[in-house]
Amino acid sequence: MAPPILERYVAAMVLSGVGDAMGYKNGSWEFCQSGIDIHQEAKKLGGIEKLKIELPDWMVSDDTVLHLATAEAYMETKDTKDKETLYRNIAEKYKKGMHDMDGRAPGRTTMNSCHMLNPLQEKGYEIPFNPRGGGCGAAMRAMCIGLRYPKPENLSDLIADGIESGRMTHHLPKGFLGSLAAALFTSYAIQNKPVEQWGAGLMDTLPLARTYIKESGRAVNENLKEWGYFENAWKNYLEIRNITSGKTLPKFPSDYGIEARDKFYESVSSSGWGGANGHDAPMIAYDALLGSGDSWIEICKRGILHYGDNDSTGVMAGCWFGAMYGFLGVPDNHHKKLEYRKRLEEAGKKLYELAHKGKEHQSSNIPCQKEGNDETEVCNDSSQKSPLSAHDQGISEESSQTNEIKGTITDIVEGGTSESKDSEQVDKAEPVEVSVDSSKQTTNQDTEKKITEKVQTNV
Ligand SMILES: [Mg+2]
Repeated sequence: MAPPILERYVAAMVLSGVGDAMGYKNGSWEFCQSGIDIHQEAKKLGGIEKLKIELPDWMVSDDTVLHLATAEAYMETKDTKDKETLYRNIAEKYKKGMHDMDGRAPGRTTMNSCHMLNPLQEKGYEIPFNPRGGGCGAAMRAMCIGLRYPKPENLSDLIADGIESGRMTHHLPKGFLGSLAAALFTSYAIQNKPVEQWGAGLMDTLPLARTYIKESGRAVNENLKEWGYFENAWKNYLEIRNITSGKTLPKFPSDYGIEARDKFYESVSSSGWGGANGHDAPMIAYDALLGSGDSWIEICKRGILHYGDNDSTGVMAGCWFGAMYGFLGVPDNHHKKLEYRKRLEEAGKKLYELAHKGKEHQSSNIPCQKEGNDETEVCNDSSQKSPLSAHDQGISEESSQTNEIKGTITDIVEGGTSESKDSEQVDKAEPVEVSVDSSKQTTNQDTEKKITEKVQTNV
């Protein structure tokens, strides 16, 4: 029996934070270049089940800070149909989130873009098109949009907010369509849509997103010119897994162990660092969910403990698992003392209330799509279960860390003047510097060296 819907909302938020903190491991696992090494270290710590995800060793990273920012903007916006107010509130939260980035490895594109946001001005949440805005920074904070808009009839709001919140920092289809995918898949999880159908659902949604971009009238030609990358990457992935139609079960290679997964994740990336971009972060998290069923430990192995941008794949994999299965099989030591647990829990509860006003917590009926047809039906939460029951130009801008991003956070947050809204400045923006509290910086020198090498290679 599936857990109560309210528990799934809370678990979606809390386990997103767990996936982030576990993958990040204060920087040492996010920037580790070997899944094998990560698994061996987990074993030395007593095994995945025994990991104590709590401070000081397991901070949440930028992903959770900004995911909470998105969620709390919804919580504080009375009328989410008033898009101007909603988007300015989201932009304000993103700027405020920059105050909480010490030791959390924020992405450079996000920081530079937040510098340009000006929530006090009308349309101050809009930034110029950015050919280098393809990182996963938009996707990693968008899952809760699907909790706010969980029903098929909410799709137009989900598309609009997924895109607009995404392109506040990542104004390139590869970036903001990742945001849309992260939100859409969360809504599918709440709808009890079978996991193997999610990819097909995304492909059906992309034309609607394209129409939205055209009708928005903003940077239309630039966005349409760059539209194909995300769509083609997903088309290829769904073919590889044999789930293009959504009517077949996924096929995995006979050898799909730690090394094989690392290789595959790298192959679907555009930067050599799986999960660093808007297309592959949700793809890897989805791949992990497809292969893990309702096993929390298995999704930790596949979706979090791998080489690549694993806090961002983890933040999504954790969220979707929680949205489907609640805290099923999740050890208490993974989530009870998680940093920001209370805020995450409150966000889950409040988003539930906002999305299901007037419904009983324990037996909400969520409209969902049944396998094999396109009709929307009402699914009784307690009887439905998946049959499987089972950061820009890639890495460079989303992986900027410590030495790459030192400086004054005040400048980011207080800045954002109109003259900075210049596309040339976006491309040429100097790395924003963040003041780093050395007592919180646990990333070792080797890790910093690897990060620097990656950034220099990919910028
Ligand atoms: Mg992160």
